[in-house]
Amino acid sequence: MAISKTFYITTPIYYPSGKLHIGNAYTTLYCDVLKRYKSLQGFDTYYLTGMDEHGKKVETSAQDAGVPAQDHVDRIAEETKKLWTLMDIEYDDFIRTTEKRHKTVVQTFFEQLLKQKDIYLGHYEGHYCMHCESFFTETQVGPDHICPDCGRPTQLLKEESYFLKLSKYAKKLHDYIIEHPDFIQPESRRNEVLAFIDNGLNDLSVSRTTFDWGIKVVSDPKHVVYVWLDALTNYISALGVLDDEPHLYEKYWKGDEVLHVVGKDILRFHAIYWPIMLMALDIPITFKLYAHGWYMMKDGKMSKSKGGAIYPETFINRYGLDAMRYYMIRELPFGSDGLFAPDAFLERTNFDLANDFGNLLNRSVAMVNQYLTGQVTQKNAQTAFDADLEDQLAHTVIAYDKAMDAYNPAAALQEVFTLISRANKYIDETTPWVLAKDETQHDVLENVLYHLIESLRVIGILLIPVMPESSRTLFGYIHADEAHQTFESRVFGAQPLFNVEKKVTPLFPRLDVKKELEALKTPVEKPAEAEAETERTPMIAIDDFAKIDLRVGVVTACRAHENADRLLVSTVDLGEETPRQIVSGISKFYTPEQMVGKKVIVVANLKPVTLRGERSEGMLLAGSNAKTLEVVELETLNPGDSVR
Ligand SMILES: [Zn+2]
Repeated sequence: MAISKTFYITTPIYYPSGKLHIGNAYTTLYCDVLKRYKSLQGFDTYYLTGMDEHGKKVETSAQDAGVPAQDHVDRIAEETKKLWTLMDIEYDDFIRTTEKRHKTVVQTFFEQLLKQKDIYLGHYEGHYCMHCESFFTETQVGPDHICPDCGRPTQLLKEESYFLKLSKYAKKLHDYIIEHPDFIQPESRRNEVLAFIDNGLNDLSVSRTTFDWGIKVVSDPKHVVYVWLDALTNYISALGVLDDEPHLYEKYWKGDEVLHVVGKDILRFHAIYWPIMLMALDIPITFKLYAHGWYMMKDGKMSKSKGGAIYPETFINRYGLDAMRYYMIRELPFGSDGLFAPDAFLERTNFDLANDFGNLLNRSVAMVNQYLTGQVTQKNAQTAFDADLEDQLAHTVIAYDKAMDAYNPAAALQEVFTLISRANKYIDETTPWVLAKDETQHDVLENVLYHLIESLRVIGILLIPVMPESSRTLFGYIHADEAHQTFESRVFGAQPLFNVEKKVTPLFPRLDVKKELEALKTPVEKPAEAEAETERTPMIAIDDFAKIDLRVGVVTACRAHENADRLLVSTVDLGEETPRQIVSGISKFYTPEQMVGKKVIVVANLKPVTLRGERSEGMLLAGSNAKTLEVVELETLNPGDSVR
């Protein structure tokens, strides 16, 4: 027996910060589709997903919830697994960074890198946003030291930290990327990474002393390992890289094909930090990296921190899993962003699934029952249209494989639906209902119906990776033999005879778009995760306060920031000649429409800054606590009036 080639595919490990939305679920589904495809191609596959469970945010939310951090992450891991079960994700392993098998590997690697001086002790200094728990550079925070992500003030923080010598490996990594043109896909992302390396790499801070919830540095336990060195290691710790007999590691990491799938926002960490870590550890870089785009909402980027996030459960529970799997894979083009719009979802379900695919099955099976006796075989009685349908089928199989091999299941689905359309057109061309009236045309009629059922069998096989449940149901209706549900049997004529079921229940009922849109408007979202703000501010004198010019303004227009999901861009009339543009980190709590018309208090003499490409000429006052944020509003004053 031939030894199968191996295929190892991974999602990033997810951070337990709340409920996963469609953007997160996309990565996991995408990997599931490729894994199923490769398995059908005969690969020996291994699919890894999991959770990144350390960090200050986890520590803080556990404290807020009054539970031990481990209990907190245990609960979220269970919820996450439930979602993957609901979505029929066939992962082989679920790694959690709080597991011993992972911690040991991280600690061993850390000490090894320390010993060989690729990790050294230094000081980390940066502008720290408490809210986002991130350090930013001078350039990122601008002259006013404003967090580029949320618009809040940052503070200069200096702490002892271990660093990984990225700079030492920059040249080697650059050469590697040049020598391996398919290492990073799509190509636009590869160029982005090369440009980033060319700008010079700063050494990476890999430890923290400001919180405890992490993997302790063995030789210096007041430090915990910080984010990427911990998280990225999961791809090999899960394979038991340091086991006495690392079977999985030898088989899959050193196997034929390894693919890390990530969202474009974490491309850099996977394209730069991870390969450099591997180089330093003298572990072969065997993976390819695919960075996908995001699903956007009609009014901007979808995210947990924004009211408009869509959760997969809503759609799965209402319209079935396969409709959801189909839409998610079909609508996100390779390497770019896509739109997740409920109306488009409903229309695709109606047009593609109910009309084109579902109807083809219903009509074909119904005609085999009506014009024959439920049994159909191939007859030597051709119509002028047979060859074209057969050609299309052969072409579809080739094009489908080519798209899937290029990690592009959206394009592969398009190919399948071209075949489905062709088969529907074949019914119109051959008009079986006319043939049925003429006894002398019986063989032609049977041959036509055979063409339809046989095409459906191949369509069913091609749809297995994306819509496994519908494929199984289809095979049941036409009684496709098990031997003829395989990739090898994707050839016209492979199954010579079918006994179809008497009746077909439509796979995808037609939806009333208007009614469904109304139903979907009912909010299903949980309240935002609590966020603790524990900053203490120093005392100031009255003349410090007097320096602040507070004035009344009216918001005359407002829109979402294109490049930052926390930000809204408001136009505010302060009674001056031209209105001001003000960027605020409030989109989690206000829609642009809600902002328009508000009479707000503006810090009018704040130095203008540019936040993610948008100029901000002032600041709106808002109050906030762990749960919510409220913009301070006035009622009767006029634009330009002063506030003291
Ligand atoms: Zn921030």
